[in-house]
Order: sequence, then structure tokens, then C-alpha cells
Amino acid sequence: MEEALEPEKKRTRGLGTRVSTTHPRAAALSSAPQTQGQTTVPKAPRKPAPRCSTAVAPVLKTQKPGPVVPAQKPGTTAAPPMVGGKKPKRPAWDLKGQLCDLNAELKCCREKKQVLDQENQQLRDQLQEAQQQALALGAERRSLEEELTRVRAQAEQGQRELGNLSAHVLELEERLGTQEGLVQELQKEQLRLQEERTGLAARLGEQERRLQTSEASLSDSQEEVASLRQEAAAREAVLAEREDRLHGLEMERRRLHNQLQELKGNIRVFCRVRPVLPGESTPSPGFLQFPSGPCGPSDPPTRLSLSRSDERRGTLSGAPAGPTRHDFSFDRVFPPGSGQDEVFEEISMLVQSALDGYPVCIFAYGQTGSGKTFTMEGGPGGDPQMEGLIPRALRHLFSVAQELSGQGWTYSFVASYVEIYNETVRDLLATGTRKGQGGECEIRRAGPGSEELTVTNARYVPVSCEREVEALLHLARQNRAVARTAQNERSSRSHSVFQLQISGEHAGRGLQCAAPLSLVDLAGSERLDPGLALGPGERERLRETQAINSSLSTLGLVIMALSNKESHVPYRNSKLTYLLQNSLGGSAKMLMFVNISPLEENVSESLNSLRFASKVNQCVIGTAQANKK
Ligand code: ADP
Ligand code: MG
Repeated sequence: MEEALEPEKKRTRGLGTRVSTTHPRAAALSSAPQTQGQTTVPKAPRKPAPRCSTAVAPVLKTQKPGPVVPAQKPGTTAAPPMVGGKKPKRPAWDLKGQLCDLNAELKCCREKKQVLDQENQQLRDQLQEAQQQALALGAERRSLEEELTRVRAQAEQGQRELGNLSAHVLELEERLGTQEGLVQELQKEQLRLQEERTGLAARLGEQERRLQTSEASLSDSQEEVASLRQEAAAREAVLAEREDRLHGLEMERRRLHNQLQELKGNIRVFCRVRPVLPGESTPSPGFLQFPSGPCGPSDPPTRLSLSRSDERRGTLSGAPAGPTRHDFSFDRVFPPGSGQDEVFEEISMLVQSALDGYPVCIFAYGQTGSGKTFTMEGGPGGDPQMEGLIPRALRHLFSVAQELSGQGWTYSFVASYVEIYNETVRDLLATGTRKGQGGECEIRRAGPGSEELTVTNARYVPVSCEREVEALLHLARQNRAVARTAQNERSSRSHSVFQLQISGEHAGRGLQCAAPLSLVDLAGSERLDPGLALGPGERERLRETQAINSSLSTLGLVIMALSNKESHVPYRNSKLTYLLQNSLGGSAKMLMFVNISPLEENVSESLNSLRFASKVNQCVIGTAQANKK
């Protein structure tokens, strides 16, 4: 802006200078409109107009040369001489002189006027020029003012932009500050990471050293492992050989065991005499005797003699005849004092046979109250000493199966427990609504062409431990109690058949074996007193008894037929023999307990039982074959 104004100043000064130097009067005229904002040129003090020649002289000098002073007219006195620069006053009388003077003065004034006119004209020109200049300057000033406004607006805009930029700069500075803080933090982090990296590098070095050591020891170990593998392979070969031998020995054991059992007889009969119970009359001495075997008392007893005094028989003299001795011989006889463990020991071999794949069937035969249930299930009260054959046999099975698992055998057991009463089959393991009711069960073949028999509607429960078996026996007892009526102790009038289907598998050798183990508590074998009056209860009793007798005699006949190798074996004549079909016959091993009461009053029934058992004992069933697949 200052620059924009500068040329005008210069121009103004230039003009002023020119005016003041050359035309002091014009300068005074032209300076009037230029007062504002301009440096005022000091006015030259107005000199008094020169009176004549000296004052006009410079001007006149510029005039055409010619006579300036008119020649003194004749008759006039010459102008008095100048005294001290002043024109001497003409005397009053010198009118001519005075006229001359006045003419001269007029002439001077005219010249002066002419000069002034010229000067005036010059000044007017100058004024005009100055006015034009002023107009141009005004226009220039306006345009400069516009420019100034625009420049100011620009300046304001610039100011605003500057303000914005300053704010932006501030913001950027702030951000810069933050970024700097971040950079510092990052630098710190970088430092820390560098330290860490140094530490890690050190650790890596250490690890690498260790790795090298480990690799060295690994290669040592690998060599060792290779040699150990060779050793292990050699040992495995030895082990496999030993396993083979063991398996061979196991099969040999099974064969020999079976031979032993066959030598003992595939049908064996054991006689067990129960003790006299509290409150029962002691039999007379010698009523029951247990003669020792050929090797003396150390031999387990196998004989029993029973003395019976027959009142009907008399001597010729009329004196009563002495008692008749009845001798019986069985595979084993257990006198009253024999414990449950002793009895089980004798049959544990048969349980082993069942695991080896031979069907095994164990019966308890005898009159009611002779100890059949005690023998099979055990005494009351849960005394472990009193446990019967069923829980003991199962425990033995489970433990032997466990031992055989070490040789690669896997066994599974499925239990069922039914009752046959009046030729109807009832499930003793029924639960829920069927409990005690015993819905009709039927004996059927497991499938078309199958040898296996199954009871419809009966539960077949997989068992793997003693506790499960105990629970089943408990359930069977409850079911029997529900079925019991006031007049009729049904359990003694029915056959209870506990069956365990044993399945074994040797996956490694592709061997399988399966066989049923049947433990049967038969119905009381007593005959009905023929002298009894036949009331409605007795008639029912008679029907029951006939059913029992029929099934027991069928059992005898089946055993006989098997023994005689008859072509037809009448299994189907009773539900009992039909159900036990697969547990009897060729490949089966059978054991019959004949339970005897020690009481004299039961002598007749005891004799009947012993006779039946003796007949069975005479039977031999052909060589047993294990059910191997
Ligand atoms: P069954 O089943 O043949 O009818 P039980 O087994 O019910 O006969 O036996 C009748 C009674 O005799 C039961 O009280 C039973 O505890 C008892 N008893 C049977 N055998 C023996 C025994 N060997 N030792 C002790 N008590 C026995
Ligand atoms: Mg009983």
C-alpha cells in the first residue's frame, strides 16, 4: 500500500518543487486543492509588486529588445537624479516632468500588466493541468481505494485463513505433541523389546546348546531304543511262544479236567443229610449211619445206611423183627455236620466245566423240609457261611472268568430264574405289575432251527458281579412270597430253575464256547397219603402232587433214556425236562443232590428218595462234548 501511494507523493512533490521554483505564484494557486494528506509547500512570501524598472526589469529583459525608457521629450526637464535609491520628487511646477514620469509609469504598468497577463495565462494553464492531474489522481485514488478495500478484504480473508491456519497449526502441534509422546513410548517399547530380544537371543543360544546336547543324547537313546526294541521283539516272541504254550496247557487242562469229570461220571449223585433242627425229636442211635470208605475215616464218605424197623413184619415166634438196614452208595455223602463250603468244594469242578463249555445241571431232590432250598440258595439271615450253591457257584464263575481274561478269554453271563408249578412256567424275576402275578410264560426255541430254548415273557438279566446275583435272588424270594397263599406253601410244590447262560470268547484265537449252568431246586418229592379224605383242598393238593410226581418220574425216565442211549428221550413229557433239555444229555454233566431228613418219622420218604437217587446214580451218560465253536 505504501508502495501504491508512493508514486503519487513523488509526483506531488515533484509538482510542488517545480511550481515553487519556477512559479511561486502558481505554486500558491495549485497548492490550495492539495492540502489534504499532502506535504504543504510553504508559501513564498508575497513580495510587494515592484514599482517599476528594477522590479520589472527581469521580466522586461525577456521582452523584445528596444528602447525601454522613452526618450525625454524636448521641453521637459530631465528627471532629477536618484538620491539614495529613491527617485527625487519633481517640483510641482515641473508638470511636464511629472507627466513624463506618469507616462513612463503607465508604460511600466502596462508592461507589467502584460507580463502579469502572461503569467496569469500560464497559471491558468497550470491550474487546468493541475485540475486534470487532480482528476486523474482522484480516479487513481478511487481505484487505489477500491484496491485498498479489496486488499483489505483479502487481508481479512488472509487474516481469517491465518487464524484457521493458526488453529490448524495448534491442532497439528497438539497432535505432534501426542505423536511425539507416542514416539517416545514406542522408542521405550523398542528399547524394551531390544532388551528382550537380546535376552531371548541369549536363551535361544542356551536352548540351542541344550538341543545339541539333547540331540546327542537322543541319538544315544535311539540306539538304545533300537537295541531295546530288538530285545522286546525277542521277548515278545518268547512271550508269544509262552502264550501258545499256556493256551495249549489251558486246552490240555480243559481236556484233562473233562476226562476227570467223565471218570467221576457225567451223572453224579450226592446225598446230603440235614441236621436235626431245634425242636425236632432226635432219631434213635444208628438210624442213619455213614460207613467209612475203603481207605478208612480219612476217605470222604460215600455210603449211607438207614435202619428201618418194620412193625408189619414179624418173626415166627411173634417177636418184632429187628430193624432192616438199607445201604446206599453214592458219589459222595454229606453227613448232617457238613458245611456249605464243603459241599461247594465238591461241585466247584463242575462249575469249571461250565466255563469250559460243557452244559452243567445240578438238581436238589428230596421231600419238603429235607434241605433242598438250603443247599441251593442258602440259609436264612444272609450269613455268608450259610450261602448256598447258587451264590457260591456264581462267585466262583466270576473269579475264574477274571483269571481267564488274563489268557485272552472274555466271558459274559445272563441269568434267568423261573418256577414250574402245576406244569405252568412263571418268571421269578418279574418286576413291576407282573411281580408275583406270573403272566403265562412259554418255553420256546430261541429261533427257527435253533437248539437254544428260551422262556417267553421271562427276564434274562446280564450279570457280572455277586451283588447283581444277590439282588436277583432277593427278587425271586419276594416273588415267591407274593405267590404264597394261606393254605398252600407253593414254593415247595414247584420246581425253581435258576439258569445262567455262559458265553466265552477268545478273540485272539477266534475261539468261542457257550453253555448253560442250571441249578434246580425240585418240588418236594413226598407222596400223598393215600388214606387222606379227599376234600376240595386235598383234591387240589392231589393234582399238584400228581403234576410233581409226573415231572419227577419224567426226569428219571429222561435220565434212564439218556443212559440207555435210547433213540427217543421223552423231554417233552414235562415242562421241567423240556426246559432242561440242553442241560441234560450227551454233552452235559449232571449232579443230583438227594436231600434227606434225619428224622425217623420221614424214613419212608427218605427211602423213596434214596431209591430214586440210586437209580439215577446207576446211569451213565455218554462222553460229554464241550459246546465249542
Ligand atoms: P426244602 O427246601 O427241601 O423244603 P429247606 O431248605 O427249606 O427244605 O430246609 C428246611 C429247614 O431246614 C430250613 O429251616 C433250613 O434252614 C433247615 N436246614 C436244611 N438243611 C440244613 C443244613 N444243612 N444245616 C442247617 N439247617 C438246615
Ligand atoms: Mg424248598
